[in-house]
Amino acid sequence: MVSSVVTRERQTLIGGWGRATRSQATMVRPDADDDWAAIFRTAGPRGVIPRGGGRSYGDAAQNAGGLVVSTAADATIGALDPAAATIEVGAGVTIGDLARHLAPGGWTLPVVPGSAGVTVGGAIAADVHGKNHVRHGTFGNQVATMTVLTPARGTIEMSPMVNADEFWATVGGLGLTGIIRRATLRLIPLTSWWVSSVDEEQPGLHRVLDRLHAASASSEHAVAWVDRYGAGVITRARTARLGALTPTRAARTRATPTLPGRGIAWPPLTAAANAARRSAVALRPRHLRPLSDLHFPLDSLPGWPRLHGRRGLIQHQFTVPFGAEHVLAEALRATREAGHSPSLAVLKVFGAASAAPLSFPGPGWSLAMDFAAEPALGPVLDRLDERIATAGGRVYLVKDSRAHPDLVAAMYPGLARWRAVRSMLDPDQLLVSDLARRLRLTDQRLADLSAADLSGADPSGADRIGASHA
Ligand SMILES: Cc1cc2nc3c(=O)[nH]c(=O)nc-3n(C[C@H](O)[C@H](O)[C@H](O)COP(=O)(O)OP(=O)(O)OC[C@H]3O[C@@H](n4cnc5c(N)ncnc54)[C@H](O)[C@@H]3O)c2cc1C
Repeated sequence: MVSSVVTRERQTLIGGWGRATRSQATMVRPDADDDWAAIFRTAGPRGVIPRGGGRSYGDAAQNAGGLVVSTAADATIGALDPAAATIEVGAGVTIGDLARHLAPGGWTLPVVPGSAGVTVGGAIAADVHGKNHVRHGTFGNQVATMTVLTPARGTIEMSPMVNADEFWATVGGLGLTGIIRRATLRLIPLTSWWVSSVDEEQPGLHRVLDRLHAASASSEHAVAWVDRYGAGVITRARTARLGALTPTRAARTRATPTLPGRGIAWPPLTAAANAARRSAVALRPRHLRPLSDLHFPLDSLPGWPRLHGRRGLIQHQFTVPFGAEHVLAEALRATREAGHSPSLAVLKVFGAASAAPLSFPGPGWSLAMDFAAEPALGPVLDRLDERIATAGGRVYLVKDSRAHPDLVAAMYPGLARWRAVRSMLDPDQLLVSDLARRLRLTDQRLADLSAADLSGADPSGADRIGASHA
């Protein structure tokens, strides 16, 4: 029973993937057939948060002084329904395992994030995106139904048709509406495990953006990396004609040392790494490579955070609408001039937003920047966040570890509506994380307002309340 697991488990230090955040909590690892509802009955005053693969960069899956519930044992893969093109899976199944399971039968997931270790539960709770948001939207768009254990209403089925408000609050809901137990996911046919990709170098940010925009409209997958001046390489990829469906071996994990100082984020080292990348592109711009290499490039370097020194890595990912390209240039300039250039900066194009109030992507640009975690970086990113909010953009909550709560409320006008639905699923605030406390996501004053007051039919009301929170 879960209750005995809770009393058996010890307090342990739990951190984010970036190694820059950590806190003491009690880790609970229930079996798939345990009484999961007991988790809520035994949760103490510091509450409980589900944890999937632990691939969040920051503190989304941490809960200082409370319970952290691992979903790892809930990793069953059910039968595929070829007529409906769906499959039912446990929330603890990883995206990598599922992709390998599906490929030999000629199926795949339409949306895949950048790490194979992300679980289905974590992918829904963050409403993750891939390198093809313009075509397929987010992971939440691929969920036909899901089964969620909630504190107030027990286990309920949710879909865009049934319990739709609860469904969209759980998509991108950061584990704060319930524990996702199972999901039925939509699939698309796969004709090859191999992709043909082309890398194209461009000398400045404007050219990179132009070419990336065109590539996102015409290619299955498109992404770009840029250096601190905005010069970079656009990668576009499509399924190869080679009809081989057997997955290649998963990336080998290599032990990585913790580098001294800022490590790879030390500007001369970053410049050398970027120069090496450019030479490789010049020598060989076209590749035939496994799908997994395209989707999960950092999985071959699982120690990437350690390469950023003892304090670890912070990733700052934000989106701004089309027309606000100046904010992308400002982000690179401000961090460069402050002496905190990113070790890696990745650009993507986003299409239409999902219906989930806390979903991150919306029509425009996304820039994700990796930095060595240093206290002096804080004020630089705070000023950048103000520019992003003013431009109508937002930061990606699941990757955050330092944003200001007032700005987050302004960036996510759907926050009040989300809180209203959440408060019906969890009126006693049992679900809580370090991220939720830090960003005041589950603020009681607003949660007390009724759902009718905050209905999505009245977005101006939601905006007003979000603003008054700020
Ligand atoms: C190398 C790398 C590349 C990445 N690339 C991308 C990318 O391209 N696109 C993108 O969108 N993201 C990307 N991410 C971020 C990652 O997809 C998200 O952080 C994702 O949520 C991690 O899932 P997880 O299973 O590891 O969950 P965790 O990190 O353990 O938890 C993440 C959140 O999900 C919640 N959660 C987990 N399981 C459940 C459940 N069963 N029920 C309810 N809530 C749950 C947690 O409470 C927490 O709030 C990347 C991360 C890494 C490390």
